[in-house]
Amino acid sequence: MTVSRLRALSLALLVLMLVMLPLLPLPDFWIIQLNYIGLYTLPVLGLVLLTGVGGLTSFGQAAFVGIGAYTTAWLTLNTGISPWFTLFIGIALTCASALIIGAITLRMSGHYLPLATIAWGLSLYYLMGNLQALGKYDGLLGVPGLSIAGVELGQQRLFYALVWLIVLVACVALLRLLDSRAGRAIRSLKNGAQMAEAMGVNTLHYKIGIFVFAAVLASISGWLIAHFQRTVNPSPFGLKMGIEYLFMAVLGGASQVWGAIVGTSVFKVLEDQLQVLLPRMIGTSGNYETIVFGILLVLVLKYQPDGLWDFVRRRLPRPPRERDWQGAPALPVRDLPAAGDTVLEVQAIRKTFGGLLAVNDITFAIRAGQIMGLIGPNGAGKSTTFNLITGMLALSGGAIRLRGQDISGLDSRRIAERGIARTFQHVKMIADMTVLENVALGAHLRGRHGAIAAMLRLDRAEERQLLHEAERQLQRVGMGHLLHEQAGNLAMGQQRLLEIARALCADPALLLLDEPAAGLRHKEKQALAAVLRQLRGDGMSILLVEHDMGLVMDVCDRMVVMEFGTRLMEGTPDEVRQSHEVRAAYLGT
Ligand code: ADP
Ligand code: MG
Repeated sequence: MTVSRLRALSLALLVLMLVMLPLLPLPDFWIIQLNYIGLYTLPVLGLVLLTGVGGLTSFGQAAFVGIGAYTTAWLTLNTGISPWFTLFIGIALTCASALIIGAITLRMSGHYLPLATIAWGLSLYYLMGNLQALGKYDGLLGVPGLSIAGVELGQQRLFYALVWLIVLVACVALLRLLDSRAGRAIRSLKNGAQMAEAMGVNTLHYKIGIFVFAAVLASISGWLIAHFQRTVNPSPFGLKMGIEYLFMAVLGGASQVWGAIVGTSVFKVLEDQLQVLLPRMIGTSGNYETIVFGILLVLVLKYQPDGLWDFVRRRLPRPPRERDWQGAPALPVRDLPAAGDTVLEVQAIRKTFGGLLAVNDITFAIRAGQIMGLIGPNGAGKSTTFNLITGMLALSGGAIRLRGQDISGLDSRRIAERGIARTFQHVKMIADMTVLENVALGAHLRGRHGAIAAMLRLDRAEERQLLHEAERQLQRVGMGHLLHEQAGNLAMGQQRLLEIARALCADPALLLLDEPAAGLRHKEKQALAAVLRQLRGDGMSILLVEHDMGLVMDVCDRMVVMEFGTRLMEGTPDEVRQSHEVRAAYLGT
């Protein structure tokens, strides 16, 4: 059975189950419970994307639920606008506030977002509780219910249909998003933001995007809650609830879309049972369930850190993705410089770290179709030179020109756009993505479809082109048989080749390889040398930092030797081999 069939089948089964539930002779109490589970699942889904996948923690989901709820409550009560319009006004207000909070805090690394969302959650709570117009802590009463074509949805089975339809649409949208160009960028935010930037991903843009999207899901939930409960007051939108949403996400499996439903269901059912049972057992009333949840959270994090859904997921069959991209038209390619043209000119570049002069007036040029080696003992400044060329570090002096254009001072994303692709001395890949997806990330700049197109599946033609290209580059480095392997399972040599394939996917004018042979066994080194020779045969221009002298001497056309940040000499491998200076400094003979 094909994957898409299997997916469609399991989704159909889930839908069938959801449809069957209210048809069973369940007491109304349980239908209302199911409605609450659906309502809470929406903000939790937002957290799956934001926190679980994107690695950004927000305590502010409940506050965005509050914006959606209060907006529709106040507007329907005071202006008589239809709730079907106030939904969009609530979403607009949510987007505006999330954009402002996100744009300010997500630029800064570290704990600014969690702290800002705590502040946001607290201040919105007190605002709702103190504004006369919002009914202070009593809230707004008598909010109208929802109706479609004159039929009241009430709080039972009709409302159930609406809530769960929205939940399902949100789940499908999220699954589609994660399986796309934008999704790969989002999945690289948590552990590979620096690498993603070097592939041309605007990580800030995606961070703000997922923060806003998560807030919108929360806001829609708030809109539903207001018309479900027919009243709003501040307490369900406070910080405590913001923490509980996070708890539900972690319980279910923070990075799993279906985990959101599992986590929310378990939380909600347990909460209700414990609220009744615990006071009876202990003999006094109180919120004892909070203590139980605290213990439960510790246990889940210790014994099932990927959440409850992960336990199920690992036991489900996972057939490989269909190769539906064969025959997709090739992506357009860059005009490459003619053989012999100067590709890169590095002119007296310099970098100081405090008092340390790590790169001291280094000058060299690379011609098209050449492999230039950059060698020198540990700490000579090779990686720093790389980071200066790729814009990951700012120059302290000097200039860099790519194909005659000055690129000094550009950030790494702009430099990637201009056609420099790189690998890293310490492999940077997303371990829980497949090899194919990791490599497709390298082609980010060659696609243009964004998150919305992905959710609507308008991106499929382009997606096939991107995956086709990723497969082609993997074959080029001899990894065509590992497309669907999890990158985290690869041997070191394969990881290094993955990085080269990913860089090639960017269709670079210049390829920078930082110690590609480090940690490789003899056989793997030979395979790498063969790939490098073949790339040169294809006319690729390469700057190669490498420790393995045999490999460098073997594949390079010219080389620059560095020591203590300065250039010792430049020449052909033979010239370098015969230089007394180099022998003394580097080879130690
Ligand atoms: P290589 O790659 O040739 O082994 P590097 O370029 O990594 O050497 O480092 C050159 C020198 O610069 C080393 O002394 C290293 O400790 C120093 N260095 C590199 N990066 C930084 C940094 N971010 N901050 C301070 N010092 C650094
Ligand atoms: Mg280095």
